[in-house]
Amino acid sequence: MFIEKFKVESPNVKYVEDEIHSVYNYETTELVHENRNGSYKWIVKPKTVQYEFRTDTHVPKLGVMLVGWGGNNGSTLTGGVIANKEGISWATKDKVQQANYFGSLTQASSIRLGSFNGEEIYAPFKSLLPMVNPDDIVFGGWDISDMNLADAMARAKVFDIDLQKQLRPYMESMVPLPGIYDPDFIAANQGSRANNVIKGTKKEQVQKIIEDIREFKEKNKVDKIVVLWTANTERYSNIVVGLNDTMENLLAAVEKDESEISPSTLFALACIYENVPFINGSPQNTFVPGLIDLAIKRNSLIGGDDFKSGQTKMKSVLVDFLVGAGIKPTSIVSYNHLGNNDGMNLSAPQTFRSKEISKSNVVDDMVSSNGILYEPGEHPDHVVVIKYVPYVGDSKRAMDEYTSEIFMGGQNTIVMHNTCEDSLLAAPIILDLVLLAELTTRIQLKGEAEGKFHSFHPVATILSYLTKAPLVPPGTPVVNALSKQRAMLENILRACVGLSPENNMILEYKWV
Ligand code: NAD
Repeated sequence: MFIEKFKVESPNVKYVEDEIHSVYNYETTELVHENRNGSYKWIVKPKTVQYEFRTDTHVPKLGVMLVGWGGNNGSTLTGGVIANKEGISWATKDKVQQANYFGSLTQASSIRLGSFNGEEIYAPFKSLLPMVNPDDIVFGGWDISDMNLADAMARAKVFDIDLQKQLRPYMESMVPLPGIYDPDFIAANQGSRANNVIKGTKKEQVQKIIEDIREFKEKNKVDKIVVLWTANTERYSNIVVGLNDTMENLLAAVEKDESEISPSTLFALACIYENVPFINGSPQNTFVPGLIDLAIKRNSLIGGDDFKSGQTKMKSVLVDFLVGAGIKPTSIVSYNHLGNNDGMNLSAPQTFRSKEISKSNVVDDMVSSNGILYEPGEHPDHVVVIKYVPYVGDSKRAMDEYTSEIFMGGQNTIVMHNTCEDSLLAAPIILDLVLLAELTTRIQLKGEAEGKFHSFHPVATILSYLTKAPLVPPGTPVVNALSKQRAMLENILRACVGLSPENNMILEYKWV
Protein backbone atom coordinates (compact mmCIF):
# COMPACT_ATOMS: atom_id res chain seq x y z
CA MET A 1 0.00 0.00 0.00
CA PHE A 2 1.20 3.50 -0.76
CA ILE A 3 0.46 6.44 1.54
CA GLU A 4 1.26 10.07 0.75
CA LYS A 5 2.09 11.42 4.21
CA PHE A 6 2.85 10.27 7.76
CA LYS A 7 3.85 11.66 11.12
CA VAL A 8 6.17 9.95 13.62
CA GLU A 9 4.98 9.64 17.22
CA SER A 10 7.79 8.80 19.62
CA PRO A 11 9.24 10.07 22.90
CA ASN A 12 12.41 10.71 20.87
CA VAL A 13 10.80 13.08 18.37
CA LYS A 14 9.35 16.53 18.84
CA TYR A 15 7.69 18.61 16.15
CA VAL A 16 8.07 22.20 17.36
CA GLU A 17 7.41 25.41 15.47
CA ASP A 18 9.60 25.40 12.33
CA GLU A 19 11.73 22.48 13.59
CA ILE A 20 11.80 18.73 14.07
CA HIS A 21 13.96 17.51 16.96
CA SER A 22 14.99 13.89 17.20
CA VAL A 23 17.14 11.89 19.55
CA TYR A 24 18.72 9.00 17.75
CA ASN A 25 20.65 5.97 18.96
CA TYR A 26 23.30 5.20 16.38
CA GLU A 27 24.24 1.51 16.59
CA THR A 28 27.80 1.04 15.44
CA THR A 29 30.96 -0.91 16.25
CA GLU A 30 34.33 -0.11 17.69
CA LEU A 31 37.28 -2.09 16.35
CA VAL A 32 40.28 -2.87 18.44
CA HIS A 33 43.44 -4.63 17.28
CA GLU A 34 45.24 -5.68 20.41
CA ASN A 35 47.76 -8.10 21.78
CA ARG A 36 46.00 -10.73 23.89
CA ASN A 37 48.08 -13.55 25.36
CA GLY A 38 50.97 -12.94 22.98
CA SER A 39 49.10 -12.67 19.68
CA TYR A 40 47.23 -9.84 17.99
CA LYS A 41 43.48 -10.23 17.71
CA TRP A 42 40.71 -8.15 16.19
CA ILE A 43 38.00 -7.39 18.73
CA VAL A 44 34.70 -5.92 17.56
CA LYS A 45 32.65 -4.15 20.19
CA PRO A 46 29.09 -3.10 19.40
CA LYS A 47 28.40 0.37 20.73
CA THR A 48 25.58 2.87 20.79
CA VAL A 49 26.20 6.57 20.31
CA GLN A 50 23.42 9.03 20.92
CA TYR A 51 22.92 11.84 18.40
CA GLU A 52 20.44 14.67 18.33
CA PHE A 53 19.16 16.03 15.04
CA ARG A 54 17.46 19.37 14.50
CA THR A 55 15.83 20.05 11.13
CA ASP A 56 14.58 23.46 10.11
CA THR A 57 11.21 22.75 8.48
CA HIS A 58 10.85 26.16 6.86
CA VAL A 59 11.11 25.40 3.13
CA PRO A 60 12.83 28.32 1.40
CA LYS A 61 12.11 29.79 -1.99
CA LEU A 62 15.03 28.30 -3.91
CA GLY A 63 17.04 29.71 -6.81
CA VAL A 64 19.17 27.29 -8.81
CA MET A 65 21.95 28.73 -10.94
CA LEU A 66 23.47 26.31 -13.44
CA VAL A 67 26.91 26.80 -14.92
CA GLY A 68 26.39 25.63 -18.51
CA TRP A 69 22.68 26.50 -18.36
CA GLY A 70 22.31 26.42 -22.14
CA GLY A 71 23.75 22.93 -22.51
CA ASN A 72 21.78 19.72 -23.04
CA ASN A 73 21.39 19.05 -19.31
CA GLY A 74 20.62 22.66 -18.42
CA SER A 75 17.95 23.13 -21.09
CA THR A 76 16.45 19.67 -20.47
CA LEU A 77 16.12 20.23 -16.73
CA THR A 78 14.69 23.73 -17.14
CA GLY A 79 12.16 22.58 -19.75
CA GLY A 80 11.27 19.50 -17.71
CA VAL A 81 10.50 21.51 -14.59
CA ILE A 82 8.41 24.03 -16.56
CA ALA A 83 6.48 21.16 -18.15
CA ASN A 84 5.75 19.69 -14.71
CA LYS A 85 4.82 23.03 -13.21
CA GLU A 86 2.50 23.94 -16.08
CA GLY A 87 1.02 20.43 -16.31
CA ILE A 88 2.04 20.15 -19.96
CA SER A 89 1.23 17.00 -21.93
CA TRP A 90 2.29 16.27 -25.50
CA ALA A 91 1.61 13.83 -28.28
CA THR A 92 4.23 11.22 -29.11
CA LYS A 93 3.78 8.61 -31.84
CA ASP A 94 2.63 6.19 -29.11
CA LYS A 95 0.43 8.19 -26.72
CA VAL A 96 -0.24 11.45 -24.98
CA GLN A 97 2.61 11.83 -22.53
CA GLN A 98 2.29 13.70 -19.22
CA ALA A 99 5.24 15.54 -17.66
CA ASN A 100 6.78 13.62 -14.76
CA TYR A 101 9.86 13.43 -12.57
CA PHE A 102 10.78 9.80 -13.29
CA GLY A 103 14.44 9.15 -12.49
CA SER A 104 14.46 11.49 -9.51
CA LEU A 105 15.16 9.77 -6.19
CA THR A 106 13.41 12.50 -4.21
CA GLN A 107 10.39 12.90 -6.51
CA ALA A 108 9.77 9.43 -7.90
CA SER A 109 11.07 6.86 -5.42
CA SER A 110 9.59 5.54 -2.21
CA ILE A 111 10.62 4.37 1.25
CA ARG A 112 9.27 1.51 3.34
CA LEU A 113 7.60 2.54 6.59
CA GLY A 114 6.55 -0.85 7.95
CA SER A 115 3.78 -3.43 7.80
CA PHE A 116 0.08 -2.98 8.46
CA ASN A 117 -2.27 -6.00 8.56
CA GLY A 118 0.28 -8.08 6.70
CA GLU A 119 0.82 -5.52 3.97
CA GLU A 120 3.96 -3.50 3.33
CA ILE A 121 3.41 0.27 3.61
CA TYR A 122 5.40 2.68 1.47
CA ALA A 123 5.52 6.47 1.23
CA PRO A 124 7.22 8.91 -1.16
CA PHE A 125 10.91 9.53 -0.44
CA LYS A 126 10.16 13.25 -0.33
CA SER A 127 7.67 12.74 2.53
CA LEU A 128 10.54 12.02 4.95
CA LEU A 129 11.37 15.68 5.52
CA PRO A 130 10.01 18.96 4.13
CA MET A 131 11.81 19.61 0.84
CA VAL A 132 11.58 22.29 -1.82
CA ASN A 133 8.99 21.45 -4.46
CA PRO A 134 10.89 21.43 -7.77
CA ASP A 135 8.02 23.24 -9.47
CA ASP A 136 8.83 26.27 -7.25
CA ILE A 137 12.52 26.54 -8.18
CA VAL A 138 13.61 29.68 -10.03
CA PHE A 139 16.26 28.74 -12.61
CA GLY A 140 19.07 30.88 -13.93
CA GLY A 141 22.76 30.58 -14.66
CA TRP A 142 25.71 31.15 -16.92
CA ASP A 143 26.86 29.88 -20.29
CA ILE A 144 29.71 30.84 -22.60
CA SER A 145 27.10 30.66 -25.40
CA ASP A 146 24.48 33.41 -25.37
CA MET A 147 21.79 31.23 -26.96
CA ASN A 148 18.41 31.55 -25.24
CA LEU A 149 17.05 28.43 -23.56
CA ALA A 150 14.36 27.77 -26.18
CA ASP A 151 16.94 27.66 -28.96
CA ALA A 152 19.30 25.70 -26.69
CA MET A 153 16.54 23.12 -26.16
CA ALA A 154 16.13 22.83 -29.95
CA ARG A 155 19.91 22.51 -30.38
CA ALA A 156 19.97 19.74 -27.76
CA LYS A 157 17.42 17.61 -29.72
CA VAL A 158 16.31 15.85 -26.54
CA PHE A 159 12.59 16.63 -26.19
CA ASP A 160 9.84 15.58 -28.60
CA ILE A 161 8.98 18.35 -31.03
CA ASP A 162 5.42 18.81 -29.74
CA LEU A 163 6.78 19.39 -26.25
CA GLN A 164 9.41 21.81 -27.56
CA LYS A 165 6.72 23.89 -29.27
CA GLN A 166 4.78 24.22 -26.03
CA LEU A 167 7.87 25.04 -23.96
CA ARG A 168 9.30 27.63 -26.37
CA PRO A 169 7.23 30.62 -25.11
CA TYR A 170 8.40 29.99 -21.54
CA MET A 171 12.07 29.60 -22.44
CA GLU A 172 12.68 32.22 -25.14
CA SER A 173 13.28 35.00 -22.66
CA MET A 174 15.72 32.94 -20.57
CA VAL A 175 19.23 33.98 -21.56
CA PRO A 176 22.35 32.79 -19.71
CA LEU A 177 24.71 35.25 -18.05
CA PRO A 178 28.24 35.36 -19.51
CA GLY A 179 30.49 32.53 -18.27
CA ILE A 180 34.20 32.28 -17.50
CA TYR A 181 35.86 30.87 -20.62
CA ASP A 182 39.40 29.55 -20.68
CA PRO A 183 40.20 27.65 -23.89
CA ASP A 184 43.08 25.93 -22.13
CA PHE A 185 40.64 23.90 -19.99
CA ILE A 186 38.05 22.58 -22.47
CA ALA A 187 38.42 21.10 -25.95
CA ALA A 188 39.39 23.41 -28.80
CA ASN A 189 36.21 22.29 -30.61
CA GLN A 190 34.15 24.37 -28.13
CA GLY A 191 35.69 27.68 -29.22
CA SER A 192 32.93 28.52 -31.72
CA ARG A 193 30.31 28.51 -28.92
CA ALA A 194 32.14 31.01 -26.76
CA ASN A 195 30.41 34.32 -27.57
CA ASN A 196 29.26 35.18 -24.02
CA VAL A 197 32.28 35.50 -21.78
CA ILE A 198 33.39 37.49 -18.75
CA LYS A 199 36.46 39.58 -19.47
CA GLY A 200 39.13 40.57 -16.94
CA THR A 201 41.50 38.94 -14.50
CA LYS A 202 40.63 35.83 -12.50
CA LYS A 203 40.03 37.98 -9.44
CA GLU A 204 37.63 40.20 -11.42
CA GLN A 205 35.87 37.13 -12.83
CA VAL A 206 35.26 35.76 -9.32
CA GLN A 207 33.94 39.18 -8.26
CA LYS A 208 31.55 39.20 -11.27
CA ILE A 209 30.15 35.76 -10.34
CA ILE A 210 29.58 36.98 -6.79
CA GLU A 211 27.68 40.01 -8.15
CA ASP A 212 25.64 37.74 -10.45
CA ILE A 213 24.61 35.55 -7.51
CA ARG A 214 23.62 38.55 -5.40
CA GLU A 215 21.65 40.17 -8.23
CA PHE A 216 19.83 36.94 -9.05
CA LYS A 217 18.85 36.52 -5.43
CA GLU A 218 17.62 40.09 -5.18
CA LYS A 219 15.79 40.15 -8.52
CA ASN A 220 13.97 36.85 -8.01
CA LYS A 221 13.35 37.32 -4.31
CA VAL A 222 14.67 33.85 -3.48
CA ASP A 223 15.74 32.92 0.06
CA LYS A 224 18.57 30.60 -0.92
CA ILE A 225 20.65 29.69 -3.95
CA VAL A 226 22.41 26.50 -5.00
CA VAL A 227 24.94 26.60 -7.85
CA LEU A 228 25.70 23.49 -9.91
CA TRP A 229 28.33 22.97 -12.62
CA THR A 230 26.85 21.19 -15.64
CA ALA A 231 29.17 22.92 -18.09
CA ASN A 232 31.71 21.14 -20.27
CA THR A 233 34.18 18.75 -18.72
CA GLU A 234 37.47 20.51 -18.13
CA ARG A 235 40.92 18.96 -18.18
CA TYR A 236 42.45 18.22 -14.79
CA SER A 237 44.23 21.12 -13.11
CA ASN A 238 47.78 20.38 -12.08
CA ILE A 239 48.10 20.29 -8.31
CA VAL A 240 51.18 22.34 -7.62
CA VAL A 241 52.75 23.01 -4.24
CA GLY A 242 52.59 26.76 -3.61
CA LEU A 243 49.79 27.25 -6.18
CA ASN A 244 46.56 25.48 -5.23
CA ASP A 245 47.57 23.09 -2.45
CA THR A 246 46.39 25.26 0.44
CA MET A 247 43.73 27.90 0.88
CA GLU A 248 46.31 30.67 1.25
CA ASN A 249 48.20 29.59 -1.87
CA LEU A 250 45.02 29.28 -3.93
CA LEU A 251 43.81 32.73 -2.96
CA ALA A 252 47.24 34.21 -3.67
CA ALA A 253 47.27 32.43 -7.06
CA VAL A 254 43.93 34.02 -7.98
CA GLU A 255 45.32 37.44 -6.98
CA LYS A 256 48.32 36.76 -9.26
CA ASP A 257 46.05 35.64 -12.13
CA GLU A 258 47.84 32.28 -12.34
CA SER A 259 46.87 30.38 -15.47
CA GLU A 260 46.44 26.94 -13.82
CA ILE A 261 43.29 27.99 -11.89
CA SER A 262 40.32 26.59 -13.86
CA PRO A 263 36.99 28.33 -14.53
CA SER A 264 35.13 25.75 -12.43
CA THR A 265 37.44 26.42 -9.47
CA LEU A 266 36.75 30.15 -9.86
CA PHE A 267 32.96 29.57 -9.86
CA ALA A 268 33.28 27.38 -6.76
CA LEU A 269 35.45 29.99 -5.06
CA ALA A 270 32.81 32.67 -5.64
CA CYS A 271 30.13 30.38 -4.16
CA ILE A 272 32.21 29.56 -1.09
CA TYR A 273 32.72 33.30 -0.50
CA GLU A 274 28.94 33.75 -0.72
CA ASN A 275 28.22 30.66 1.39
CA VAL A 276 26.21 29.22 -1.49
CA PRO A 277 26.33 25.41 -1.95
CA PHE A 278 28.34 24.46 -5.05
CA ILE A 279 28.02 21.06 -6.74
CA ASN A 280 30.28 19.79 -9.51
CA GLY A 281 28.45 17.56 -12.00
CA SER A 282 31.48 17.02 -14.24
CA PRO A 283 34.54 14.85 -13.66
CA GLN A 284 37.34 17.42 -13.43
CA ASN A 285 39.19 18.20 -10.18
CA THR A 286 37.47 21.53 -9.53
CA PHE A 287 37.96 20.88 -5.84
CA VAL A 288 41.72 21.28 -5.65
CA PRO A 289 43.09 20.87 -2.09
CA GLY A 290 43.19 24.65 -1.47
CA LEU A 291 39.52 24.96 -2.38
CA ILE A 292 38.45 22.10 -0.11
CA ASP A 293 40.47 23.76 2.63
CA LEU A 294 38.61 27.05 2.04
CA ALA A 295 35.17 25.37 1.98
CA ILE A 296 35.93 23.64 5.29
CA LYS A 297 37.19 26.85 6.90
CA ARG A 298 34.12 28.81 5.75
CA ASN A 299 31.75 25.87 6.36
CA SER A 300 30.29 26.23 2.88
CA LEU A 301 28.80 23.12 1.28
CA ILE A 302 30.58 21.54 -1.70
CA GLY A 303 29.63 18.28 -3.43
CA GLY A 304 30.60 16.22 -6.46
CA ASP A 305 32.01 14.91 -8.70
CA ASP A 306 30.35 13.89 -11.98
CA PHE A 307 26.68 12.87 -12.19
CA LYS A 308 26.22 9.10 -11.79
CA SER A 309 23.59 8.63 -14.45
CA GLY A 310 24.06 5.54 -16.63
CA GLN A 311 26.94 3.18 -17.18
CA THR A 312 28.65 3.88 -13.85
CA LYS A 313 25.36 3.55 -12.01
CA MET A 314 24.91 0.08 -13.52
CA LYS A 315 28.51 -0.74 -12.60
CA SER A 316 28.03 0.29 -8.98
CA VAL A 317 25.05 -2.07 -8.85
CA LEU A 318 26.38 -5.00 -10.84
CA VAL A 319 29.84 -5.25 -9.29
CA ASP A 320 28.30 -4.89 -5.83
CA PHE A 321 25.95 -7.76 -6.69
CA LEU A 322 28.73 -9.97 -8.12
CA VAL A 323 31.24 -9.42 -5.32
CA GLY A 324 28.42 -9.66 -2.76
CA ALA A 325 27.44 -13.03 -4.27
CA GLY A 326 31.01 -14.33 -3.94
CA ILE A 327 31.67 -14.08 -7.69
CA LYS A 328 34.97 -12.56 -8.81
CA PRO A 329 34.82 -9.94 -11.61
CA THR A 330 38.17 -10.12 -13.39
CA SER A 331 37.62 -7.86 -16.39
CA ILE A 332 35.26 -4.92 -16.90
CA VAL A 333 35.30 -3.20 -20.26
CA SER A 334 33.05 -0.23 -21.00
CA TYR A 335 32.47 1.48 -24.32
CA ASN A 336 30.47 4.66 -24.86
CA HIS A 337 29.22 6.10 -28.14
CA LEU A 338 28.11 9.65 -27.58
CA GLY A 339 27.08 12.18 -30.23
CA ASN A 340 26.15 15.31 -28.29
CA ASN A 341 28.31 18.35 -27.48
CA ASP A 342 29.55 16.62 -24.33
CA GLY A 343 30.78 13.76 -26.53
CA MET A 344 32.50 16.21 -28.88
CA ASN A 345 34.23 17.92 -25.95
CA LEU A 346 35.31 14.55 -24.55
CA SER A 347 36.90 13.61 -27.87
CA ALA A 348 39.95 15.69 -26.85
CA PRO A 349 42.48 13.58 -24.90
CA GLN A 350 42.81 15.94 -21.91
CA THR A 351 39.07 16.17 -21.19
CA PHE A 352 38.59 12.44 -21.88
CA ARG A 353 41.26 11.76 -19.27
CA SER A 354 39.11 13.54 -16.61
CA LYS A 355 36.17 11.26 -17.47
CA GLU A 356 38.38 8.18 -17.52
CA ILE A 357 39.68 8.95 -14.03
CA SER A 358 36.21 9.62 -12.64
CA LYS A 359 34.85 6.37 -14.08
CA SER A 360 37.84 4.25 -13.05
CA ASN A 361 37.70 4.04 -9.24
CA VAL A 362 34.07 3.06 -9.00
CA VAL A 363 34.65 -0.61 -8.17
CA ASP A 364 37.53 -0.15 -5.72
CA ASP A 365 35.55 -0.26 -2.47
CA MET A 366 33.59 -3.35 -3.60
CA VAL A 367 36.76 -5.19 -4.63
CA SER A 368 38.59 -4.38 -1.41
CA SER A 369 35.56 -5.51 0.63
CA ASN A 370 36.13 -9.17 -0.26
CA GLY A 371 39.51 -10.60 0.72
CA ILE A 372 38.32 -14.12 -0.18
CA LEU A 373 38.10 -13.23 -3.87
CA TYR A 374 40.95 -10.73 -4.18
CA GLU A 375 44.52 -10.69 -2.84
CA PRO A 376 45.55 -7.37 -1.28
CA GLY A 377 46.21 -4.90 -4.11
CA GLU A 378 44.59 -7.15 -6.75
CA HIS A 379 42.10 -5.47 -9.12
CA PRO A 380 40.00 -6.56 -12.07
CA ASP A 381 41.14 -5.18 -15.44
CA HIS A 382 39.01 -2.09 -15.94
CA VAL A 383 38.98 -0.24 -19.26
CA VAL A 384 36.80 2.71 -20.29
CA VAL A 385 36.51 3.91 -23.90
CA ILE A 386 34.47 6.91 -25.11
CA LYS A 387 33.99 7.56 -28.82
CA TYR A 388 32.32 10.58 -30.40
CA VAL A 389 29.67 9.37 -32.85
CA PRO A 390 27.69 12.44 -34.00
CA TYR A 391 24.75 10.48 -35.45
CA VAL A 392 23.60 9.08 -32.08
CA GLY A 393 23.24 12.61 -30.65
CA ASP A 394 22.20 12.70 -27.00
CA SER A 395 21.10 9.06 -27.22
CA LYS A 396 24.16 7.48 -25.68
CA ARG A 397 25.10 3.87 -26.28
CA ALA A 398 26.86 2.24 -23.37
CA MET A 399 28.24 -1.26 -23.95
CA ASP A 400 29.75 -3.22 -21.09
CA GLU A 401 31.35 -6.61 -20.78
CA TYR A 402 31.83 -8.11 -17.32
CA THR A 403 33.88 -11.30 -17.10
CA SER A 404 33.98 -13.10 -13.77
CA GLU A 405 35.48 -16.22 -12.28
CA ILE A 406 32.86 -18.53 -10.83
CA PHE A 407 32.78 -21.94 -9.09
CA MET A 408 35.67 -24.31 -9.81
CA GLY A 409 37.45 -22.14 -12.33
CA GLY A 410 34.42 -21.47 -14.50
CA GLN A 411 33.97 -18.17 -16.33
CA ASN A 412 30.86 -16.05 -16.60
CA THR A 413 30.52 -13.19 -19.07
CA ILE A 414 27.70 -10.66 -18.90
CA VAL A 415 27.25 -8.20 -21.75
CA MET A 416 24.99 -5.17 -21.53
CA HIS A 417 23.87 -2.71 -24.15
CA ASN A 418 22.20 0.41 -22.86
CA THR A 419 20.65 3.06 -25.12
CA CYS A 420 19.28 6.19 -23.54
CA GLU A 421 18.99 9.98 -23.88
CA ASP A 422 21.85 11.05 -21.66
CA SER A 423 20.25 14.31 -20.57
CA LEU A 424 16.98 12.64 -19.58
CA LEU A 425 19.05 10.58 -17.13
CA ALA A 426 21.09 13.52 -15.86
CA ALA A 427 18.33 16.14 -15.41
CA PRO A 428 16.47 14.38 -12.53
CA ILE A 429 19.83 13.74 -10.85
CA ILE A 430 20.63 17.46 -11.01
CA LEU A 431 17.26 18.10 -9.40
CA ASP A 432 18.00 15.66 -6.57
CA LEU A 433 21.44 17.15 -6.03
CA VAL A 434 20.14 20.69 -5.58
CA LEU A 435 17.14 19.66 -3.45
CA LEU A 436 19.24 17.47 -1.16
CA ALA A 437 22.04 20.03 -0.94
CA GLU A 438 19.48 22.62 0.15
CA LEU A 439 17.91 20.23 2.66
CA THR A 440 21.34 19.35 4.08
CA THR A 441 21.92 23.00 4.98
CA ARG A 442 18.78 22.89 7.19
CA ILE A 443 19.89 19.88 9.27
CA GLN A 444 22.04 20.21 12.37
CA LEU A 445 23.35 17.44 14.58
CA LYS A 446 25.09 16.94 17.88
CA GLY A 447 26.94 13.90 19.23
CA GLU A 448 26.45 12.92 22.86
CA ALA A 449 29.81 14.32 23.95
CA GLU A 450 29.35 17.60 22.10
CA GLY A 451 28.11 20.80 23.67
CA LYS A 452 26.45 22.38 20.67
CA PHE A 453 24.78 21.58 17.37
CA HIS A 454 26.70 21.86 14.13
CA SER A 455 25.99 21.33 10.45
CA PHE A 456 27.09 18.30 8.44
CA HIS A 457 30.67 18.38 7.19
CA PRO A 458 30.80 20.90 4.31
CA VAL A 459 32.09 18.18 1.99
CA ALA A 460 28.67 16.69 1.34
CA THR A 461 29.15 12.90 1.21
CA ILE A 462 25.39 12.60 1.74
CA LEU A 463 25.09 13.32 -2.02
CA SER A 464 27.29 10.33 -3.03
CA TYR A 465 24.40 8.29 -4.46
CA LEU A 466 24.17 10.86 -7.25
CA THR A 467 27.84 11.15 -8.19
CA LYS A 468 30.34 8.92 -9.98
CA ALA A 469 33.40 9.88 -7.95
CA PRO A 470 32.02 10.98 -4.58
CA LEU A 471 33.96 13.81 -3.01
CA VAL A 472 34.77 12.96 0.61
CA PRO A 473 36.60 14.88 3.33
CA PRO A 474 40.34 14.11 3.33
CA GLY A 475 41.06 10.80 5.10
CA THR A 476 37.53 9.36 5.01
CA PRO A 477 36.30 6.24 3.16
CA VAL A 478 34.72 6.46 -0.30
CA VAL A 479 31.59 4.35 -0.81
CA ASN A 480 30.61 3.67 -4.43
CA ALA A 481 28.16 0.76 -4.08
CA LEU A 482 24.79 2.22 -5.08
CA SER A 483 22.64 0.38 -2.52
CA LYS A 484 24.92 1.47 0.33
CA GLN A 485 24.86 5.06 -0.88
CA ARG A 486 21.08 5.06 -1.06
CA ALA A 487 20.76 3.43 2.37
CA MET A 488 23.12 6.02 3.86
CA LEU A 489 21.04 8.89 2.52
CA GLU A 490 17.67 7.40 3.39
CA ASN A 491 18.78 6.32 6.87
CA ILE A 492 20.17 9.74 7.74
CA LEU A 493 16.90 11.38 6.72
CA ARG A 494 14.99 8.72 8.69
CA ALA A 495 17.14 9.51 11.74
CA CYS A 496 16.07 13.16 11.48
CA VAL A 497 12.48 12.06 12.17
CA GLY A 498 13.45 9.41 14.71
CA LEU A 499 12.95 6.37 12.48
CA SER A 500 15.41 3.50 12.73
CA PRO A 501 17.43 2.50 9.64
CA GLU A 502 15.67 0.19 7.20
CA ASN A 503 17.14 -3.20 8.22
CA ASN A 504 14.96 -5.44 6.03
CA MET A 505 14.76 -8.05 8.80
CA ILE A 506 10.92 -8.15 8.91
CA LEU A 507 11.27 -10.09 12.16
CA GLU A 508 7.60 -9.66 13.04
CA TYR A 509 6.77 -12.37 10.44
CA LYS A 510 9.58 -14.76 11.33
CA TRP A 511 7.81 -16.79 14.02
CA VAL A 512 4.59 -18.81 14.40
P1 NAD B 1 26.68 20.30 -23.13
O1 NAD B 1 27.97 20.42 -23.88
O2 NAD B 1 25.43 20.16 -23.87
O3 NAD B 1 26.52 21.56 -22.17
C1 NAD B 1 27.58 22.21 -21.53
C2 NAD B 1 27.34 23.72 -21.62
O4 NAD B 1 28.36 24.36 -20.87
C3 NAD B 1 27.43 24.26 -23.03
O5 NAD B 1 26.26 24.99 -23.34
C4 NAD B 1 28.66 25.18 -22.99
O6 NAD B 1 28.49 26.30 -23.83
C5 NAD B 1 28.72 25.54 -21.54
N1 NAD B 1 30.04 25.92 -20.99
C6 NAD B 1 31.25 25.38 -21.25
N2 NAD B 1 32.18 25.97 -20.48
C7 NAD B 1 31.56 26.87 -19.72
C8 NAD B 1 31.98 27.78 -18.71
N3 NAD B 1 33.27 27.84 -18.36
N4 NAD B 1 31.08 28.59 -18.12
C9 NAD B 1 29.76 28.51 -18.48
N5 NAD B 1 29.28 27.66 -19.43
C10 NAD B 1 30.18 26.86 -20.03
O7 NAD B 1 26.91 19.09 -22.12
P2 NAD B 1 25.81 18.27 -21.28
O8 NAD B 1 25.42 17.07 -22.04
O9 NAD B 1 24.77 19.21 -20.80
O10 NAD B 1 26.72 17.78 -20.07
C11 NAD B 1 27.21 18.74 -19.16
C12 NAD B 1 28.28 18.14 -18.27
O11 NAD B 1 27.70 17.12 -17.47
C13 NAD B 1 29.44 17.51 -19.03
O12 NAD B 1 30.66 17.84 -18.41
C14 NAD B 1 29.20 16.04 -18.87
O13 NAD B 1 30.39 15.26 -18.90
C15 NAD B 1 28.58 16.02 -17.48
N6 NAD B 1 27.85 14.79 -17.26
C16 NAD B 1 26.74 14.50 -18.02
C17 NAD B 1 26.06 13.32 -17.80
C18 NAD B 1 24.82 13.01 -18.61
O14 NAD B 1 24.39 13.80 -19.37
N7 NAD B 1 24.22 11.87 -18.44
C19 NAD B 1 26.51 12.42 -16.84
C20 NAD B 1 27.63 12.74 -16.09
C21 NAD B 1 28.28 13.94 -16.29
